[in-house]
Amino acid sequence: MRPTLLDKLFADATTLPGIGPKLGKILGEFTGDKIIDLLFHLPSNLIDRQYRPSLTEVEDGRIATFEVEVMKHEAPRRRNLPYRILCGNETGYLSLVFFHARGDWLGKAMPEGAKRMVSGRVERFRDQLQIVHPDHMLPQAEFDKLPIVEPVYPLTAGLSAKVLMKAIQAALPQVPELPEWQEEEWLKKQGWSDWRSATQAAHRPENMAALEPTHLARARLAYDELLAHQLVLALVRRDRKKQQGRAYQSAEALQKRLRELLPFPLTGSQESAIADIEMDMSAPMRMLRLLQGDVGSGKTVVAVMAMLQAVANGAQAALMAPTEILARQHAETLGPWLDELGISWQLMTARNKGKLRKESLDALASGDVQIAIGTHALFQGDVAFADLGLAVVDEQHRFGVQQRMALSTKGNGVDVLVMTATPIPRTLTLTAYGDMDVSRMPDKPPGRKPVDTRVISMDRYDDVAQGLGNALQDGARVYWVCPLVSESELVDLAAAEDRANALRAIYGDKVGLVHGQMKAADKDAVMARFASGEISILVATTVIEVGVNVPEATVMVIEHAERFGLAQLHQLRGRVGRGLDKSSCVLLYRGPLGETAKARLGIMRETEDGFKIAEEDLRLRGAGEVLGTRQSGLPAFRLADLEAHADLLPAVHDDVKLLLERDPLLKSPRGEALRVLLYLFRRDEAIRFLQSG
Ligand code: ADP
Ligand code: MG
Repeated sequence: MRPTLLDKLFADATTLPGIGPKLGKILGEFTGDKIIDLLFHLPSNLIDRQYRPSLTEVEDGRIATFEVEVMKHEAPRRRNLPYRILCGNETGYLSLVFFHARGDWLGKAMPEGAKRMVSGRVERFRDQLQIVHPDHMLPQAEFDKLPIVEPVYPLTAGLSAKVLMKAIQAALPQVPELPEWQEEEWLKKQGWSDWRSATQAAHRPENMAALEPTHLARARLAYDELLAHQLVLALVRRDRKKQQGRAYQSAEALQKRLRELLPFPLTGSQESAIADIEMDMSAPMRMLRLLQGDVGSGKTVVAVMAMLQAVANGAQAALMAPTEILARQHAETLGPWLDELGISWQLMTARNKGKLRKESLDALASGDVQIAIGTHALFQGDVAFADLGLAVVDEQHRFGVQQRMALSTKGNGVDVLVMTATPIPRTLTLTAYGDMDVSRMPDKPPGRKPVDTRVISMDRYDDVAQGLGNALQDGARVYWVCPLVSESELVDLAAAEDRANALRAIYGDKVGLVHGQMKAADKDAVMARFASGEISILVATTVIEVGVNVPEATVMVIEHAERFGLAQLHQLRGRVGRGLDKSSCVLLYRGPLGETAKARLGIMRETEDGFKIAEEDLRLRGAGEVLGTRQSGLPAFRLADLEAHADLLPAVHDDVKLLLERDPLLKSPRGEALRVLLYLFRRDEAIRFLQSG
């Protein structure tokens, strides 16, 4: 149960002045609909009202403040005209302009002859100075109430700056004092204040410097968020280490037979990953291991070796892919090996329906099937295994901490192996995957031909399009990727259709199109025609469909390459260069390119090492981008900025480690306070791990 002292913070935002049900809904989608969500929404700018020029000297377009006398009201003569109030002082005249104004209200608020302080953005209209809808119009008794600086918050459609600012400022005095969850010494050393003061200070910036992420108040709040996150990962990890898992015997005989079936020797990276996994699976604890290796580094074989160990011990194993196509491809690769080894397996997809599905489910439940291959849906609903021993999750793009937690608490002692082709820089691994053990696979299978990568301006589109002709004559197959450019999928689809049509004008029915809005069966059909060579140019809108393996594909063209993350570009490029022929990758960009964009595309030309690309990407773009939610499954931080606060990460890791050594059950006063912290950041799922002791 959430501690009652947080009740105020978790009250609905609609309890704040100016926030009705409609705004509450908008906030719900934008920031979250509780007061705490607004407090986590920090200002991005500020308005400085210190500029108080004379009316003769004021600069156009600036926010300015004047003391004036109200001279004359001019009600509009036609409906569409604004209401004007003419004001002035000894230095000149100023019109206040109101659209859709309520004249009676303005008449009362601004009586002729009264003194007022007005503040807002000044502009010149037909040689007259005016302010449209002033931000403030204060009577003389309240002159000292004019805020000198006002925070400005990021906004969304339907939410006005003033309303949001007022609501947040109204929430600030109600912020409760919370027990301190940071170490006294550490706070002193950093010069940080308590949580309440820091929250209030972050929303009352006094100058631009106070908006910097490294400002004392913001740094403290960032530390809190990172601390909550890291504490959860550590608790999950510890809980798992305590859980009884099964100690599997090693599966030497089966693994040896698989090695004999493979037409290649394993790489050093594969061997050491296999050894890591074998050690985990042989120990009486649950495994939760991340296998990080580039596209094409050969993770699949490693996964099979792990599954063999489960199977050799009489348990079942499941391999889960993010899409149907990938699941099928796994089945095509593994199926023959498993058949040869006499292991029963089955492909489970959402498309197995009715009787077929029932039969599959029965086979899993009875244990007739030893290895199941399918999409993540494999784990949902009515699916029951006789005795699941190992779950392998391929490509965890959409597989975040929450899902990992859910998976590892499912079943009794199921070992989990997560495979990702998104290399994360070493410095960020703990932050992203602190709950897991990690094996990295830096080597690639030998004999892979480097992909010739070129960065080419869209101005040369015609050359590129015509140039494909030569490649096609040599039997090449070409991916042409059009990225998500606009917010609307329909617009993107139109762009891809245009591209497909333009290429059809040259290459006729050799061109196919696959996009995210097609039905799964239609997508598969197009992919199959591409794989068989019936079509040789495949235009794709989104990256998801390109996870497939078509060894004959040797050309990858990526349009608007400057809009992709490096990790994505790297993954896309990994789809070619898988066969025997020389491959190439064309990164088409629309100029002009900024320095960073240029450097980023340059890296793609220089290296194919995913780990190196990830490090460089981190250097150029910052951690927030590298660890974007989409790519890593890491929750988006609201207060912490992994780039600006990178130097806090080691401190957070040490803090958590030491803390759990000293106070493993969070029973000390600091431990109790940390529980509050977890609730504050809605990371309280992990608290249940403390009850079990
Ligand atoms: P990943 O899943 O890591 O992207 P895969 O497991 O699909 O990579 O392997 C890519 C290709 O490399 C497959 O065709 C696979 O058979 C092959 N391969 C895997 N390991 C080796 C190796 N040690 N030597 C040569 N080829 C390998
Ligand atoms: Mg793979």
